[in-house]
Amino acid sequence: MALQKIFRAVIMGPPGSGKGTVSARITKSFGLTHLSSGNILRAHINAKTEFGLLMKSSIDQGQLVPDDVISRLILSELKAIGQCSWLLDGFPRTVSQAEALDSAYIVNTVINLNVPFQTIKDRLTSRWTHLPSGRVYNTDFNPPKVPGLDDVTGEPLVQRDDDTPETVTRRLKAYETQTEPVLEYYRSKGVLETFSGTETNKIWPDVEALLYRKLSLINQKVA
Ligand code: AMP
Repeated sequence: MALQKIFRAVIMGPPGSGKGTVSARITKSFGLTHLSSGNILRAHINAKTEFGLLMKSSIDQGQLVPDDVISRLILSELKAIGQCSWLLDGFPRTVSQAEALDSAYIVNTVINLNVPFQTIKDRLTSRWTHLPSGRVYNTDFNPPKVPGLDDVTGEPLVQRDDDTPETVTRRLKAYETQTEPVLEYYRSKGVLETFSGTETNKIWPDVEALLYRKLSLINQKVA
């Protein structure tokens, strides 16, 4: 769908709720620019920037980086991409971050993926990655041909530092205490749209239908 007017959306949900997959589908179908705070932080860590080195230990331990630091980082990324429609993923994660975002932009829609914590724990702790290529396996439903080895290169697979069972539990706890108030914040503003389920493929058609509806409305207002 061609966008005639700027549309700003946030996608929320616990780590491992399928935000990455749904975001990729939204950007493909609707042409929004996708900004993921986790990806931006990981890019800093991989590039070994001073900022990345400073933040690495909190991230590896599943702790949130400070509000003022992440808010400044994301607002400057949004400024850099300029006047375009976007989808924010992983930010805001606290009410203070949501207020920082609000002070600069009006958010049109917040998509909330509501997936049970047990489903997430099972998913994340069985996720293994081939680091050089980024190929991802899941020991339950997409296992490598040889356990622990990449199908293409035969090289070893690793777990993301923050996908171990202890860290996943900590990340979910952080979500519960710090991020659920953000859902309340957006609910009170009337922009929260919640999608519940255990499978991304079943949640997706409802997300897609909602966005078609919202974007048609926004385009009609322009026409
Ligand atoms: P994610 O890939 O979104 O799960 O992010 C990975 C890690 O980056 C999180 O566990 C946090 O340590 C950090 N992080 C990402 N986004 C934020 C944010 N909005 N506020 C604070 N920390 C964040």
